[in-house]
Amino acid sequence: RKFVYDFTEGNKDLKDLLGGKGANLAEMTNLGLPVPPGFTITAEACRHYLEHGNLPDGLADEVNRHLADLESAMGKKLGQSDDPLLVSVRSGAKFSMPGMMETVLNVGLNDESVHGLAAQAGDERFAWDSYRRLIQMFGKTVMDIDGDLFEGAVEDVKRARGSDDDGDLTAGDLRELVDRFKVIVREEAGREFPTDPREQMDLAVEAVFDSWNAPRAILYRRQERIPVDLGTAVNICSMVFGNMGLDSGTGVAFTRDPATGQQGIYGDYLQNAQGEDVVAGIRNTVALTELERIDKASYDRLVEIMETLENHYRDMCDIEFTIERGKLWMLQTRVGKRTAGAAFRIACQLLDQGLIDLDEAARRVTGDQLAQLMFPRFTDRVDGVQKITKGMNASPGAAVGKAVFTSERAVELAERGEEVILVRRETNPDDLAGMVAAKGVLTSRGGKTSHAAVVARGMGKTCVCGAEELDVDVKGGSFTAPGGITVREGDVISIDGSSGEVYLGEVPVEDSPIVRYFEGQLSTEDGGDLVKAVHRVMEHADARAALKVRANADNPEDSARARRFGAAGIGLCRTEHMFLGDRRQLVEELILAEDDDGRQAALDALEPLQKSDFEGIFEAMDGLPVTIRLIDPPLHEFLPDITELSVRVALAGDEADAKDRRLLEAVNRLHEQNPMLGLRGVRLGLVIPGLFGMQVRAIAEAAAARRRAGGDPRPEIMIPLVGAVQELEAVRDEARGILAAVRESSGIDVPALIGTMIELPRAALTAGQIAEAAEFFSFGTNDLTQTTWGFSRDDVEAAFFSRYLELGIFGVSPFETLDREGVGRLVRIAAEEGRRARPGLKLGICGEHGGDPDSVHFCHEVGLDYVSCSPFRIPVARLEAGRAAI
Ligand code: PEP
Ligand code: MG
Repeated sequence: RKFVYDFTEGNKDLKDLLGGKGANLAEMTNLGLPVPPGFTITAEACRHYLEHGNLPDGLADEVNRHLADLESAMGKKLGQSDDPLLVSVRSGAKFSMPGMMETVLNVGLNDESVHGLAAQAGDERFAWDSYRRLIQMFGKTVMDIDGDLFEGAVEDVKRARGSDDDGDLTAGDLRELVDRFKVIVREEAGREFPTDPREQMDLAVEAVFDSWNAPRAILYRRQERIPVDLGTAVNICSMVFGNMGLDSGTGVAFTRDPATGQQGIYGDYLQNAQGEDVVAGIRNTVALTELERIDKASYDRLVEIMETLENHYRDMCDIEFTIERGKLWMLQTRVGKRTAGAAFRIACQLLDQGLIDLDEAARRVTGDQLAQLMFPRFTDRVDGVQKITKGMNASPGAAVGKAVFTSERAVELAERGEEVILVRRETNPDDLAGMVAAKGVLTSRGGKTSHAAVVARGMGKTCVCGAEELDVDVKGGSFTAPGGITVREGDVISIDGSSGEVYLGEVPVEDSPIVRYFEGQLSTEDGGDLVKAVHRVMEHADARAALKVRANADNPEDSARARRFGAAGIGLCRTEHMFLGDRRQLVEELILAEDDDGRQAALDALEPLQKSDFEGIFEAMDGLPVTIRLIDPPLHEFLPDITELSVRVALAGDEADAKDRRLLEAVNRLHEQNPMLGLRGVRLGLVIPGLFGMQVRAIAEAAAARRRAGGDPRPEIMIPLVGAVQELEAVRDEARGILAAVRESSGIDVPALIGTMIELPRAALTAGQIAEAAEFFSFGTNDLTQTTWGFSRDDVEAAFFSRYLELGIFGVSPFETLDREGVGRLVRIAAEEGRRARPGLKLGICGEHGGDPDSVHFCHEVGLDYVSCSPFRIPVARLEAGRAAI
């Protein structure tokens, strides 16, 4: 096996092996772009290291060979004392994890080679600055020394010099810092800073491997659903320096605006700076367009390269570059992260440019991005709330919450259910937990490519960055804004990630234009380019989709909205939702009835209510199928809480209400240890006479009434929680009898399919038999997940899922994304055996997974006819159904 690839050997498709950075460095090298020479150690080597705790056999030899090649290409040796080759050691996983893992720059410097570097560069100060940066980065990253100790030493020296700017430090000061840093290393790590260049490099490589499992990297992967076991590649790249004076610098560029998708030159540039200074947001950058004035030749070359990259990747790219004494070097490129709105706009721009086709445009956007565009935003009118400043619109959306100033406080308050905005001068990877917990992020420094901006965009979290008028005092827990305004922890602020505006107080929010478009309130003409882009992609997705998308809805309003959002019918109407509110009383009477007459009276009272509900839904879904599920939950859910009622009756003693006593008796009778596995679903229909019958009659009569009114009702009757065909047969026969009776009495024949949910493993495994009695299946994957894993769906997520996610037992909750291997296998078996027994059997899914992108793809693969999800997820499911078919 080959563990090391020279940049000339790889290409952009080798991301699994070389990581995103390594693969794209290779691609750029092969395009003839100016990439400093280097090589990549594969993620496979990292996986071996993480698994076995040692480097794989043969790696050292391979590294030796590639290093020797690099040295001969550069005409100097690593750490050579009169003219050292210096390298950077950078992480680079398959999926970008900005700032989550480690990087060490200037590897190869030591007490001798620092002089060589000074002589070659003709700059003492630069050489000593590079050396102290190496010890600082190496100490922190490789030797696990608290970074504040180094920062403290820098502050001490600056104070002694009477300056607060790193730039004022002289070569002598920096030399002194090198000495101080070495002492810190000795005291903290119990060993000397390693001066052997090769040892530096090897230790840095291992540190990068180890950083795969740094807590913040683990948290980030969980957030972004990146698999835990990929490992990272390591790139060893000859150093170029952006800190060699004013004719040097470093920057980040986007080939289009990552926030809006607008075409043009976007990015930040920092003169005389090295490495991560730009991304870290430590110093304020200038707009990239300024580079034209600073160094026109480099600017022109950069613009030319950006065009080459866009045309080559056929997508928006982001770029890291360095200029060393007027020579431009490319340090990284990748297909750039972008906001949801930019994704749709860019896809359609590239389509219009002829770079991609409609299928590719649909591939370039995701259901999650569409979901983000459906978030509400601030209303235009903001009465009684004060705009206090404007920063950069780094990640769109609207967020309102209490200001907090540390990641810890954000997490603490969020856990108490409070909504918070994390306010920082700038963020760094240690703030990740706070960013996850917060509704939005506000920073006073750093550009659109700062850590805060990049990470927030990735998470779809609202972010305003670089609000420079704000003076943030993290220790004091407050910030000041122009006009003498002070905002303290707990004060409510509102941030607009689309405009960059920051308000004191709570700004009301409104629906997104995309929602108004789906609602039919905004035409594609009036909606602007984003609405147009969404419209074009959706049209194509609908044309491509094999799956239909239905709605989970149980009232006429939701049904009507679902239809406007493009639902092809209702896949799940949960009838128990019609028994809430005032009607709970009637259900109570049904349960308490002491004889047939009492029970019948209660059912007779419920029936007209059910009937009118169904009529409203049939009307909203006229001409489309409406799957009505007969009552499913355990009946005790309709009765008062057992503890409260017991206390009430006990306290009242002899005075206790007779009804309360009867209620308590019923509650005790119906009490179950495991209600989810108890008297519910089809079992209710078999045990409580007349209950299912009443519902079926209400459906049939509602359908007849609609037909009489000229409508086209299409009812489908669905029996829940079936485990054996015999259960279904019994209920089906009763239902058929009632349908026939209503046909007879009304003189109207409305055909109604009778089918079942598949939500128990036994049902899935005996699907062939069940299909003999069912005209359709709908997979209830909420219960099917619950019963397959043996996870109580109401308890486990809070109880222990975070631990399971941490341990990598699964990357995402199986209640959120369908577990293909287990639950999915049952779905496959049931679909295949069901269709074998009854060709053309209609198959759908109505668990929460019906609106989850990955699960929609699975349903497409299995060949279901439709997915059903909540009304607001319908556009997402439509888009993903189309994408799954492409
Ligand atoms: C299911 O179990 O997936 C389902 C849709 O039914 P409910 O969520 O109502 O139990
Ligand atoms: Mg269920």
